[in-house]
Amino acid sequence: MTETPKDPFAAAASFNAGVYGTSIRPVQADRLAEAVRRLLRAAGSEEGEARVVADHLVEANLRGHDSHGVGMLAMYMPAIVAGLLRPNQHATVIGESGPFLSVSGGSGYGQVIAREATDLAIQRARRDGLAVLSLRDSHHIGRVGSYGEQCSDAGLVAMAFVNVVTRPAVAPHDGTRPRLGTNPICIAIPATQATPALILDFATSAVAVGKCRVAMGKGQEMAPGLLLDSHGEATRDPGVMFQDPSGALLPLGGHKGFGLSLMCDVLAGALASAMPGTPAHQDSGRVMNNMFAIVFDPARGGNAQWAADLDDLVAYIRDTPTAPGADAIQMPGEPESRTRGQRLADGIPLDGATLAMLDSLGRECGVELAELLA
Ligand code: NAD
Repeated sequence: MTETPKDPFAAAASFNAGVYGTSIRPVQADRLAEAVRRLLRAAGSEEGEARVVADHLVEANLRGHDSHGVGMLAMYMPAIVAGLLRPNQHATVIGESGPFLSVSGGSGYGQVIAREATDLAIQRARRDGLAVLSLRDSHHIGRVGSYGEQCSDAGLVAMAFVNVVTRPAVAPHDGTRPRLGTNPICIAIPATQATPALILDFATSAVAVGKCRVAMGKGQEMAPGLLLDSHGEATRDPGVMFQDPSGALLPLGGHKGFGLSLMCDVLAGALASAMPGTPAHQDSGRVMNNMFAIVFDPARGGNAQWAADLDDLVAYIRDTPTAPGADAIQMPGEPESRTRGQRLADGIPLDGATLAMLDSLGRECGVELAELLA
């Protein structure tokens, strides 16, 4: 199987389009999920785990976040070979006190561990109105919004802060070298009768590392103002993130995004997991995520009429003249829902590098995928 590269980001970006070229090919979601399930099974996952991880990755593609979709397999497979990602682990409760719940993941697939940990927090929040979840020792958990949706589907509010522990990717405000992860935040509010669930979910960097990988796969430049090269100079070349020494992403919104990113590492790293993004934890080629999440029943937040007030607020904000080029004011989560509808109908547009990567992993594992990806 794939040789273990030292740098997990470089592993994810190491495939070039080869025979698939740079054109985009639409693949139906169910066929893509089946292909990913087969790869995961061949890499040692039990059927249930293969299904959860495959569904999570394909759902990220469906919602337009290709940075956290099936392309992540290029990073996960070498991590399995190196013993850094351990298949078939489950969330284990390691501490409980009042609303606080500490869960460890045994370096298992984050898509399984974080999902199970979120289920435990949901049970507690349903019982007591509130759960404060500390999740540690989980491999990459993928699209954080997925756990927000799990809570909003259960009628609960979630606020999640995640740190990313791997080689650092983001420069602090006023800095030129990477020190922080892309440390994502998610705030999820359940749907009311008039308003779909609000799912705010983004990296605290100006752009996610995976989006550089996707741009590189498509041979595209990044927008200005997102990246520094290894000398601290502004650049639009996504390749700087996969070189040694690497460039750096800038934080989202200057000092504000830097502050949010720092707080993710303080809450999820220093306070919740004993795994802040410091060199002691960063240098092993793995990508770990720790999560600090507050999950609560909105009906206990102080306003029994919260849903009606939320609907009024959203209606007022939507009723705004739109800027040139925009057709509507969208709420967080709405672009993803729209993209999901389109991609379910038209297929998921996979770039040549991602197709070549799936094909190559399939051949290494002895799994024939050509028919599914055609
Ligand atoms: P992004 O920049 O695309 O922002 C997404 C958020 O902005 C969503 O809440 C979306 O609904 C909202 N949004 C987008 N366009 C909008 C519009 N026109 N109007 C209103 N709201 C709009 O996201 P990102 O920073 O690139 O992150 C992508 C994904 O990567 C996320 O799912 C995140 O969880 C994931 N991520 C994971 C990790 C990890 O280590 N597990 C690290 C970084 C990012």
